[in-house]
Amino acid sequence: MTKKEVAVGIDIGATNTVFGFVDSLGNILGEERIKTSQYDEIEVFVAALYEKILLTSQKIKDNITIVGFGIGAPMGNINKGTIEYSASLPWKGIVPIAEIFGRHTNLPVIITNDANAAAVGEMVFGGAKGMTDFVVITLGTGLGSGFVINGKLVYGHDGFAGEIGHTAIRPGPSNRECGCGRKGCLETYVSATGLKRSLLKIMADSMEPSELRKLSFEELDAEIIYNAAIKGDYIAKMAFTHTGMMLGFKLADVVAHTNPEAIFLFGGLALARDLIFEPAKQYMEENLLGIYKGKVKLLPSELSIQNAAVLGASSLIWSMNK
Ligand SMILES: [Zn+2]
Repeated sequence: MTKKEVAVGIDIGATNTVFGFVDSLGNILGEERIKTSQYDEIEVFVAALYEKILLTSQKIKDNITIVGFGIGAPMGNINKGTIEYSASLPWKGIVPIAEIFGRHTNLPVIITNDANAAAVGEMVFGGAKGMTDFVVITLGTGLGSGFVINGKLVYGHDGFAGEIGHTAIRPGPSNRECGCGRKGCLETYVSATGLKRSLLKIMADSMEPSELRKLSFEELDAEIIYNAAIKGDYIAKMAFTHTGMMLGFKLADVVAHTNPEAIFLFGGLALARDLIFEPAKQYMEENLLGIYKGKVKLLPSELSIQNAAVLGASSLIWSMNK
């Protein structure tokens, strides 16, 4: 009986590490997770993860054979196979995770950051199938980005290309402080946290009534602001407009850098659809250099939020020989 080839897609997050067995068409044949935060030592974590992967693979009904392991993780470096100085994971400094993983298997192990994995996932399984030049922007607690140029994901000299979340949208010393220690980064405006920060600023400057005025910064989240905006709350709508506007300005620059066919938005904020897409489109178009106007598609990701991380990580293996 012929065995079905699967790649293991592994998404390492601060709380959970989720993995799935993905065939070349993007079907997930089985999925499991372990608690990342339980493991202070990377060697112990990798051993536990590998054991759980083997155990789970035995429960899958299809007769499978694993062809490789793709890993998406914050600060994942594909050139070196390392996770470097992640603020959210339990392991400090430079962690040689591909080498440690390699002690358990001779199969290929590829690691990159989660936004790059999302971009490869969009190319292999999502809306960017057949495209050679596109950008994926992931909008979560922060803002990540992956650039595909001439059909290849751009990694850069040190493996960290495409960090537009930490390019300045408002340069200057009096601007919003970012978690990276700098000021005025795009991520401080265009992310779930940025949306909250803008909401409070708009609230402070406006006399308009809003049900959100009762809530503290800790109580607010993007979903609450979204629900208020849908019900017509002026302040909530303004917060989305402002967020989309800042994104649109930056995307006009992004287009000038790489001349993409499309830009895909992925993640929680992208689910707000028109609230974020309309202003982003408008301000991108207004600020584009003439030669690009009307030519760049701004699209929602075609990967579901639930599966994207595992699909994206597995696609690192499936795209290996392309
Ligand atoms: Zn920053």
